This record gives sequence, C-alpha cells and structure tokens, in this order.
Amino acid sequence: MTTRSPVPADPRCPADDLSEFVYLDYAATTPLGREAFDAIGRGMRLFGNPSSRHSVGQAAHEALGTARAQVAALLGCPAGEVVFTGGGSEAINLALRGTFAPRHWRGHLVTTAIEHSAVLESAAALRRRGVDVTIVPPEPSGHVDPDRVAAALRPDTVLVSVMHANNETGAVQPVREITERAHAAGALMHVDAVQTAGKLPIDTLDADLVSISAHKFGGPKGVGALRLAAHHTVEPLVCGGGQEDGRRAGTENLPGVLGMAAAATAALPRLHDRSYRQQQWALRTRLLRHLGALDGVRVNATDPVMAETVSVTFAGVRGDTVADVLDMHGICVSTGSACHAGQDSPSHVLTAMGLDVEQARATLRFSFGAGTTGADIDTAGRATVAAVEQVRRVSGRSGTPLATVGTAGVR
Ligand code: PLP
Repeated sequence: MTTRSPVPADPRCPADDLSEFVYLDYAATTPLGREAFDAIGRGMRLFGNPSSRHSVGQAAHEALGTARAQVAALLGCPAGEVVFTGGGSEAINLALRGTFAPRHWRGHLVTTAIEHSAVLESAAALRRRGVDVTIVPPEPSGHVDPDRVAAALRPDTVLVSVMHANNETGAVQPVREITERAHAAGALMHVDAVQTAGKLPIDTLDADLVSISAHKFGGPKGVGALRLAAHHTVEPLVCGGGQEDGRRAGTENLPGVLGMAAAATAALPRLHDRSYRQQQWALRTRLLRHLGALDGVRVNATDPVMAETVSVTFAGVRGDTVADVLDMHGICVSTGSACHAGQDSPSHVLTAMGLDVEQARATLRFSFGAGTTGADIDTAGRATVAAVEQVRRVSGRSGTPLATVGTAGVR
C-alpha cells in the first residue's frame, strides 16, 4: 500500500496534492473543485438558519434560493422542482419509496439488473412491503433494451427506474426512449443520473424524477438533489419542520448545497464543449491503446458509453491484486463500484451482462475527468500492463483469449 498521503498541503486548493497521485477513480468520487471549495466556505460563514425571519436567516434563505436555481439549470427544470437531499442514495430512496408510500405499497415497479444498490435495495424494500417488482436484465453490451422494458410494463405499473449511465461500465442507457415508453403506458419515470450529472447533458431527460449527487461532479459529499416534477408528489422520508416545501425536513445543509450549486455552474459550460468531449475521448483511446499491448483483454460495454469510464477485464488475474500493485505506485483505480469495495462478491453488473465470476473478478474500472492529463493516462496505462504481466507471471496464468465485446468506445 502507498505511504503517500492525499491530504492537501495547501488548504486553499483541495485538489493540488493529487499531483502525487494518478487518480483514475472519478466514478467513485471526484476531487473537490475550487469553485465548490470557495462556495462551501461562504456557506459556512452564512450561518443563519434559512427558516429564520431575521436578516441573518434571510441572507441564508436567499443564498439557498440562488443555489436552487443553479442546480435547476443543470437539471433543466423550474427551481421549485429541486429537492435538496443528503446525497444520491437519499434522492433515489425518496424517488422510489416516496412514490409507493402514498399508494400504500401497491402497484408495480420496473427497474433493471444493472442499477446501483440504492435502487436495487429500495426495490427490494418495496417488494417486502408488497410492491410487485420486475427486474429487466441488460444485453451483453451493458445496455438495457427499451423493448424489454416496454414488455415488462403493465396497467398497474406506477414507476420505471433506469440509470442514465452505469457506474461500473459507463454504458449510457436509452433513457429517453424508455421514458417515452413508460409515459405512453401511464407510468412515471425515474432516472438515476448520478454518474452523468455534470458530465453529459441531463436537462432534456424529460423524466418525472431525476437523482443527482454533488460529489460525482466536483462538489462535496453528502449532498444531492432530486428533481421532482410539479405534477408528482412523494411521501417524505424525513418528517419534521416542513423544509424543502414539506418534501424533506431538516435545516438545510447550506455549505453543502452552495458547494453543489457552484460545482453545477462550473460544469455547465463543459457539457456542450466539443473540444472538452474530444479530449475525454482522446484519453480513453490513449488508455485502451496502452492496454492493447496485452493479450486477453476485454472492454466491457460497447457504444454508447461515457468516455470517462472504462471497464476492462484482464484474463488470468485478480483485479484487486492488480489494483493493489497500482496503488503502490500511487495509481488509484477501482475494481468496481466503490460502495461494494471490500466485499468479495463479484459485480452484479458484470455478471448480469454475462461475465462469469472469474471474469468479473478480473476486472478493473478506470475513470477520469477534467483534471486528468495524457501523462496520467500514459503512467497508468504502462503501469497496468506491467502489473498484469507481473501478476500473470507469478500466478503462471496467461492471457487466455476472452470473448471480446468490442474495442468499445475506441475513437
Ligand atoms: N447511483 C449511482 C449510479 C452511483 O454511482 C452512486 C454512487 O456511487 C449512487 C447512486 C449513490 O450516490 P451517493 O454516493 O451520493 O449516495
């Protein structure tokens, strides 16, 4: 394990000390951006309670309103439809459980086998209470077929929940098409946009419910938002003082919310910046070229895929062993979703796509973003090739050819 410390030397610029590291785990969390860092400080100083009538409270209230408008701009909805939450998981729980609670846990939910555990565990909780749940499997490409979702819809389907892009493979799902199918059948649509917010446009999703999380796009942890369309109501998970228009009680986390809003505003220009997008694709291509020096490599998920998330299976190795070797060189990658790190169970996403347990365990996720350079990718690419070769040599295993999904996203 590395002895380096990621604690920033200069507290004014939180990401500076990442120069010690090659950080390729943006899908787990992103470095805090400078704009967010400054806004959090402002939120700390604006100590008033936004619900207080006096001037100090009203200053906080005003800042909260501005932040709501900023987050609404990212989501493409009226400010009144933004509910601040304690992160992506809470937004998702509010969307799913909050939709079925007023219906006394009756009705039908359609979701998919590749969702984040916040969705799958909420679905499991709903099922225990009596909601009927259909879980649609993905195709081997990592995508959900809209026809399969449509085939699962029933007259009593209340809600369909599909993620915008998968956190492990980066596969971008046909959520607009699925939303149309859901609406045509009279169902509501929830999109978990945690991985795409701030990276791909989400303002045209047209879903009734959209979940986002600040720490995935340069904001702080423990704060997120749910877009809750005006025509829909949910039962709050947290009851109390009626904050957030009665949709989520508790004195607002002003520093966190201001940090998220600043990160959203900073991300907006990147969303339609062609040269930024090309830069991210160039980084992906560069990484895959390095990894192409190895036999027995499979890129999981074909196009459409997020440039920034690359899932690769290396035959004959354990992904966690390679990740540990890379960590000793200051290179941070992941074996899958961060929330399952430390667990030995193979990825539910990869196994749903048809990988066997050994292949799923032989997988690494590289994910990058605005702070990543070509030099970072070269360092990580070369080190990964060396680490995989080393682990294969030690274990006496070779790169047995793997069925290739494709050179996914090599552009
Ligand atoms: N949904 C997806 C697709 C995610 O990747 C994550 C986090 O990894 C979440 C939901 C949960 O978000 P949070 O960490 O803010 O609870």
